[in-house]
Amino acid sequence: MKKITNRVVTRHIMTILMTGAVTFASSTVFAKDAPEAADANLVTDAKILDDQNSTGDVLTYGMGLGGQRYSPMTMINKETVKDLVPAWAFSYGDEKQRGQEAQPIVHNGKIFVTASYSRLFAIDARTGEELWQYEHRLPDGIMPCCDVVNRGAAVYDNLVIFGTLDAQLIAIDQDTGKRVWREKVGDYKAGYSMTAAPNIVKGMVITGVAGGEFGIVGKVEARDAKTGKLIWSRPTIEGHMGTLNGEDNGITGEEANKTWPGDMWKTGGGATWLGGTYDAESDLIYYGTGNGSPWNAHTRPGDNLYTASTLAIDPDTGKIVWHYQTTPHDGWDYDGVNELIPFDYEKDGQVIKAGGKADRNGFFYVLNRENGKLLNAFKTVTKVGWADHVDLETGRPVETGLRPGNPADAPEGETKGASVFAAPSFLGAKNWMPMAYNPDTKLFYVPLNEWAMDLWNEPITYKKGAAYLGAGFTVKLLYEDYIGALRAIDPVTGEWKWEYKNQAPLWGGVMTTAGGLVFTGTPEGYLKAFDANTGEELWKFQTGSGVVGCPVTWEMDGEQYVAVPSGWGGAVPLWGGEVAKRIRTLNQGGMLWVFKLHKSDAAPATTAMK
Ligand code: CA
Ligand code: CA
Repeated sequence: MKKITNRVVTRHIMTILMTGAVTFASSTVFAKDAPEAADANLVTDAKILDDQNSTGDVLTYGMGLGGQRYSPMTMINKETVKDLVPAWAFSYGDEKQRGQEAQPIVHNGKIFVTASYSRLFAIDARTGEELWQYEHRLPDGIMPCCDVVNRGAAVYDNLVIFGTLDAQLIAIDQDTGKRVWREKVGDYKAGYSMTAAPNIVKGMVITGVAGGEFGIVGKVEARDAKTGKLIWSRPTIEGHMGTLNGEDNGITGEEANKTWPGDMWKTGGGATWLGGTYDAESDLIYYGTGNGSPWNAHTRPGDNLYTASTLAIDPDTGKIVWHYQTTPHDGWDYDGVNELIPFDYEKDGQVIKAGGKADRNGFFYVLNRENGKLLNAFKTVTKVGWADHVDLETGRPVETGLRPGNPADAPEGETKGASVFAAPSFLGAKNWMPMAYNPDTKLFYVPLNEWAMDLWNEPITYKKGAAYLGAGFTVKLLYEDYIGALRAIDPVTGEWKWEYKNQAPLWGGVMTTAGGLVFTGTPEGYLKAFDANTGEELWKFQTGSGVVGCPVTWEMDGEQYVAVPSGWGGAVPLWGGEVAKRIRTLNQGGMLWVFKLHKSDAAPATTAMK
């Protein structure tokens, strides 16, 4: 770890002076009043709840607990975006590159951004100068399925909190970079890891776990954000017991074997690897769950609750209030982890309290966010093989029968079941990369991919710390001219208003603004801005490596800034198949880029030198 610079301390004191609450008449007064003045910079629940509206900071993953990734700012807009230029760039350094999937946090003139290999940087938001860096010491034998990524940190009080690849939760002092508390969330030797950004709800830090490819059991947990003390734990597989304040808090579901055969629920998956959203109106945490384990679904007949589902959880008790399963009895690795984004719409004069979810399985779901009832479902990609449609009455998919064959039915002398050609591929119509919702255009902007796979099943038995798939696959291409597609989708009609096609798979987050813009990155290295109404590409900047992180925007010193991490990686290069040829020239990296509008009336440099 590096030492905090003196300049930061100076600015901290300057802030105290400017509040006018402090006099230097006696050192006693300073010592007594300084903490009170410093309190103005502490992150509170009220500030977190107001994050989407407050333009001077970005305090939450999702640019608001609902995750709409919408900014009310308009300085950068359809007319001015052409003048967007770099303000500074920051290198994460050393040989640890790989995927940079994080969303930066901006608070109190500092940017907190996580990087590959469980690193966290604090950077001066004005200059790009490093304030400190925290490099988590990772043990040998960590088992991240899909690259050594991290998607971001949470801030609360004077802390910045993030999860690590060895499934620990780390809280660090925002000013000093020193660790304040640390909690073990899961056993990395059993395949648990953490890559998602935590959320802060009611003073609690809310987290999930990754590891669905290793037969872990998913869970959502709440800890006191200031101390790390566990408040509740909610397993996401039916049959497991949750806790509240150290006491049993009931099993998930009514009985272990209601939707699971035998002991399969004990290693059932349902990883909560992407984090969640929160809606203060309904006071519910929404968390998605991953595939059933193993992938070979012939081993676990039944719906396998609560895999491939969205769960609504009571933040005060950790109880599941409702659930909606997008892929019952998942057999394609269609993790249902995607974010549910709260939004309202009007129908027959009524305001509908809805949530939108673009699933890995190729469907977009509109749910009543108060009770989980399905309101609408439609396709987000051109080819969805496994289901014809979703029945709006029953809420269940109408399957086509396109499931990989049972290995038990394989011809004598063979172990593999019959292979199927299925779209989307297991990498999903939409994978982890977050979409955005713009309340002005009333459209969701969804980063998608069009691809398929050959998929087959094999016999498998659980072994701690080993991959638990019972399946093999090859990712296949569908179209010559594109894989990635950013689509503007009307959640009420299901209509695709516009689309932007990209040669390589889209793997980065999306942001939209009141300036009428949509931002997202490409693996080819560009951060791009589109007209939110028409999809016209208005601006792009080459960052030097693939952009698979999440852009953010904020206001500082009267100017609007945009930041995005750059660094190609993530699951795609690891599971390539036929996709490999589309991405083989892409280079890794590790940078944070920050942009603002060029000022044409700025004084010439020569004048400033005098
Ligand atoms: Ca804010
Ligand atoms: Ca999975």
